[in-house]
Amino acid sequence: MGPDVPLRIDANQGWSFEEAVEALRGMAGYNIQHCEAPIDRYDWNLLPELRRLSPIPLMADESCWNAADARRLLAIGRWTASTSS
Ligand SMILES: [Mg+2]
Repeated sequence: MGPDVPLRIDANQGWSFEEAVEALRGMAGYNIQHCEAPIDRYDWNLLPELRRLSPIPLMADESCWNAADARRLLAIGRWTASTSS
């Protein structure tokens, strides 16, 4: 594909927190734009810490179904809205 093709990954909530840290750090050199749903949606409270530890930006998916979810994620801090789909 080459370096001009932007890459985005979706873990579909498949990683534990520790697995996510290891995987995201392991992929640090691949110019990935963001990782969607790295951990279980019910572990949303861990997202700020994961974001701090990850070299790859994170994107909420299953943990953000509606405006209330978005406000909750924004309120826990260090999380910004994205226009990515
Ligand atoms: Mg997804």
